Amino acid sequence: MKLRYVLPVLALLLGVGVAPAAAQTDIGAADACYTWGRTLSEGASGDDVRQLQIRVAGYPGYGGVLGLDGQFGPATKAAVTRFQQAYGLAADGIAGSATFAKIYALQDNDCTPVNFSYDELNNCNSTWSGGNVSAATARANALVSMWKLQAMRHAMGDRPIDVNGGFRSVACNNAVGGATNSRHLYGDAVDLGAGPQGFCALAKQARNHGFSEILGPGYTGHNDHVHVAHRSNRFWSAPSCGVS
Ligand SMILES: [Zn+2]
Repeated sequence: MKLRYVLPVLALLLGVGVAPAAAQTDIGAADACYTWGRTLSEGASGDDVRQLQIRVAGYPGYGGVLGLDGQFGPATKAAVTRFQQAYGLAADGIAGSATFAKIYALQDNDCTPVNFSYDELNNCNSTWSGGNVSAATARANALVSMWKLQAMRHAMGDRPIDVNGGFRSVACNNAVGGATNSRHLYGDAVDLGAGPQGFCALAKQARNHGFSEILGPGYTGHNDHVHVAHRSNRFWSAPSCGVS
């Protein structure tokens, strides 16, 4: 428990009147997921910065991937600025009450963005176990992909994005003939149906939202879906869509 919480509680126990904790309520209506306690700008560091980076991971710019390192550098500032622009906020690259309020409005109590869920990113098992990383890591990776998809969904007019699956255990991956190094084994890969956008529009748009792996029409086995994921070096291949 932090000091700013301890003091009012202590005062309450002692029967001493204290003013409401204005600094806390100013930041905006929090939810059960996460509450930021300070304004964040370039130079800041900490887990609150990392939590912010996850939420704006879909705004790295074309071909970019935002590092989730808890260090608020120029790339994080640019991502926050793009997020603010996307939602019509004052675009100064500083995450304060208006930015956090928008994030709170965009997330559910389990920290997933409102239009995506852990369930739809895992039709393999309910535990997220049995892949190439721990269940916790697989879930964390899926969460980042969901925030990227939320950014992409908004950029494409807020129409639903059709998610056909994501995480696979080794057993699930083998059952569908997935590659042995498939990103589905790490939890960050998501397979998308055509939806109202169409495959090529999805594959092209994904380039702007932090997906370093994009596979789609024209790439072996990907004429009937678009696969987006994270990987260390970029690999884009949807030749029928001009994505390479
Ligand atoms: Zn896939």
